[in-house]
Amino acid sequence: MNDFTFKNPTKIIFGKDSHLQLAEELKGYGKKVMLIFGKNSAKKSGVYSKVLDQLKDLEIKEFWGIEPNPRVETIRKALTLAKDFKPNILLAVGGGSVIDATKLISASYYTGSDPWEVVNDANQITKALPLATVLTVAATGSEMDCYSVITNWSEHKKNSWESTLVYPQFSILNPEFTYSLSALQTAYGIVDIYSHVLEQYMNTTKNALLQDRWAESIIQTLIEIGPKVIKDLDNYNLRANLMYCSTMALNGFISMGVSQDWATHNIEHELSAFYDIPHGAGLAVLTPHWLNEVKSQKHDKMAQYARRVWGLKGEDDEVIIEAIAKTYDFFFDLGIAMSLKDYGINDEHFKDMSDRLTPNKIGEIKLDQQQILNILNSSL
Ligand code: ZN
Repeated sequence: MNDFTFKNPTKIIFGKDSHLQLAEELKGYGKKVMLIFGKNSAKKSGVYSKVLDQLKDLEIKEFWGIEPNPRVETIRKALTLAKDFKPNILLAVGGGSVIDATKLISASYYTGSDPWEVVNDANQITKALPLATVLTVAATGSEMDCYSVITNWSEHKKNSWESTLVYPQFSILNPEFTYSLSALQTAYGIVDIYSHVLEQYMNTTKNALLQDRWAESIIQTLIEIGPKVIKDLDNYNLRANLMYCSTMALNGFISMGVSQDWATHNIEHELSAFYDIPHGAGLAVLTPHWLNEVKSQKHDKMAQYARRVWGLKGEDDEVIIEAIAKTYDFFFDLGIAMSLKDYGINDEHFKDMSDRLTPNKIGEIKLDQQQILNILNSSL
C-alpha cells in the first residue's frame, strides 16, 4: 500500500426526508441562495417544488439550463448572474453535470479569470463560494468529491480539474429524487459508477487489501441491483443502494493508498468533446476494449477481478477473457448500445483524439498511441 493523506469534508444527509433538512443546513451561510438546475427535469419530477418549499425564508435566484456534459459557454452566463446576485451559497439541484458546473461557478467567482482559464489552471483558486447539492442522479459521485469535468464545445475540449475548495459543504441524497430517471439514464449511471470503481481498482499497487475489497463490494452490489433497478425504477431500496454506490465509488475511500488509472475516462472525454455521446454510453463501449488492451499489463488484478467479482474458476488467461465478456454482457443487458457506430461515431477523429491524449501518456500504465487507437478502433 502507498502512503496517503485522506480528508473529505462533505456532509452527507441521506434518506427519504433528507431534503427537509435543507433550511436548517443553509441557515449558517446567509440569506441569499443561488440555485443551479439542468434543463427542466427538476420541475417535471417535482424535486423543484420540494426544494423550494424548504427555502421560503431565503432570498433565492435560479439559473436554469446546465446541459449534460456541461459547457463552459453556459457556465459563463451563470457566473454573470452570480456576480450580480452575490449569493452566500450555491445550491446545485441535479446530477453530476449540474454539480460540476456549480463547482466551476464557485471556483471562478473570486478569481477574476474566465472559467475556462480556471479549468486549465486550478492552482489560481485561493477562495471559493460555498456550494451544496441536492442530488437527482446516481452516477458521477460529484456530490462528495472535489472534481469537475467541463466541456468547451467551441474548442472540442473536455477537461477535468479539481480543487479541495469545491467539496460540497453538504449533499442531500434522497433516493426518491432519482425515481424519474428512465431505465436508460439509470443504466448510464450504473456504468459510470462501475467505471469509476474500475479506474481506481484496476491498479498494480500491491497489498491494499481493504481498498480492493471495498472496490469489489461496490461492483458486486451494482451487478446485484443493476438489472433489478432498471425494471423497477421507483423501488426505494434499489434506488437507495444505487445512490450510495455512486457516492462511495468516488469519494476517495477506494483510492486511498493505491495508484489509479482513468485511461477509459480520458478516452471517453475525447469522444464527448467531438460527439455529444452520453458519458455512461461512451464508458460502456470503451471499457471492455480497454480491459482487453491492458490485460497482460494488469494481469494479476484482472485475474483477481475475474475470480472475486465474477466468481470464475480456471486458468488466469481463461478467466480474464471470460471476465471481460461478463463485463460487456452486464452493460449490454442493461440495454446499452455497445458500439460507437450506434452513436453515429466513425474513425474520422480517432487520430486527433489519440494525438491529444498521447502527450500525457494516459493511464496508470501509460498507454501509447497505438494502444489508444486499438481501443477506439475495436470499439467501433
Ligand atoms: Zn465518470
